[in-house]
Amino acid sequence: MDPFEDTLRRLREAFATGRTQPAKFRATQLRGLSRFLQDNKQLLLDALAQDLRKSDFESEVSEIAISQAEVTLALKNLRAWMKNERVPKNLATQLDSAFIRKEPFGLVLIIAPWNYPLNLTLVPLVGALAAGNCVVLKPSEISNSVEKVLAEVLPRYLDQSCFAVVLGGPQETGQLLEHKFDYIFFTGSPRVGRIVMTAAAKHLTPVTLELGGKNPCYIDDNCDPQTVANRVAWFRYFNAGQTCVAPDYILCSPETQERLLPALQSAITRFYGDDPQSSPNLGRIINQKHFQRLQALLGCGRIAIGGQSDESERYIAPTVLVDVQATELVMQEEIFGPILPILNVQSLDEAIDFITQREKPLALYAFSNSSQVVKRVLARTSSGGFCGNDGFMHMTLTSLPFGGVAGASGMGRYHGKFSFDTFSHHRACLLRSPRMEKVNDLRYPPHTPRNLRVLLVAMEARCCSCTLL
Ligand code: NAD
Repeated sequence: MDPFEDTLRRLREAFATGRTQPAKFRATQLRGLSRFLQDNKQLLLDALAQDLRKSDFESEVSEIAISQAEVTLALKNLRAWMKNERVPKNLATQLDSAFIRKEPFGLVLIIAPWNYPLNLTLVPLVGALAAGNCVVLKPSEISNSVEKVLAEVLPRYLDQSCFAVVLGGPQETGQLLEHKFDYIFFTGSPRVGRIVMTAAAKHLTPVTLELGGKNPCYIDDNCDPQTVANRVAWFRYFNAGQTCVAPDYILCSPETQERLLPALQSAITRFYGDDPQSSPNLGRIINQKHFQRLQALLGCGRIAIGGQSDESERYIAPTVLVDVQATELVMQEEIFGPILPILNVQSLDEAIDFITQREKPLALYAFSNSSQVVKRVLARTSSGGFCGNDGFMHMTLTSLPFGGVAGASGMGRYHGKFSFDTFSHHRACLLRSPRMEKVNDLRYPPHTPRNLRVLLVAMEARCCSCTLL
């Protein structure tokens, strides 16, 4: 007995009727999403606190406001995004109509992780609904308070013939993935990303994979240590470090490390007090499994700051590790917790070599008072996104695409219009005139040198972004 068959059939049938296509229907869904966020704000804040002990501030900023901003942007631009895009034509098609039509894929599957369980579910959903798809949403079973709100409350705000939330862990999701979808949008670990891509390959389904990785953070000698420490500590310990774009490790000279350590200690004390465990502003590790994984990482290098933990609360103090070797466990996997190793390099070039010898990261950060240094890191490396002199602020701009650059960082992009485009098939359309058949004679056999010459002249129009035939 397949638990998903009826739901998927219902959604496919709804899509086939074409009811998701009009702008009015899409806007109604987006307004429903907006009302869901407004009506249930306290419920969502409570659920996020329950799952991750997220403070209201963090939840508002990184979950609710971001999702709401995406809905507002999509509603404002929906009709413009949906418009056919006229494209330049060549000589042979001057009298025809050439355009790109944005069409929904059909039945879309969105699979989300637990670390920003609302944001990473709703932001892709905005794009999928704006693009006119039917959607199956699979939230993470690990953040189960948010999962419950999404399953029980969200469907009331959306057209249930076109939208469904399905529940389950690895086994159920594996079963779900056996079905054919028209698009799969996955956010999660590289390990499960491979499972999703393998399942998609069976049906040749296109995918977006928003994965993770180890994000390097280079700190130049020419910097103000306190400013850098404030910014680094804020985005490393935000959500207890469980952020895919958090800096995973610092690369700096031994001299900068010496200046940075007291500044990091001062930032941590300022943010979370002398006893971070009693701070209402520091989150907790999602579950026992991740707590134990992180505890093992505390044994790497030498603890310079923090290092305390309390299993009963799944608390790990904001921690800085020094004397860390690149071969140690903490440098082998994505940390995804409030632990920040510092590795020493003797020069900018050594830092760049260190970065480029490893998997391309999801995000990369460089701090320096010299814009030349920041630009050099940018020019000589590759990553999904880049931010100079700060943490993940680049991803707060809906005008920038968010996503990885192949490998463990993932593939594809979204946010703002990029989400709409990701969930739309860009259909190449040419509506030719049934008249002027004489012009077409050129291409029909029997071929002649003259006809070829004329065609080649027309092909030169390629330089003004035209294509021929
Ligand atoms: P995960 O890969 O374990 O789980 C993600 C989703 O996949 C969940 O819904 C889960 O139920 C499902 N899943 C788990 N095992 C599965 C299996 N065997 N078969 C099919 N489905 C399965 O990831 P997570 O632990 O929830 O999240 C942490 C990871 O996500 C980190 O690697 C982090 O970097 C990454 N992440 C990436 C982004 C991004 O935008 N790039 C954002 C957040 C998190």
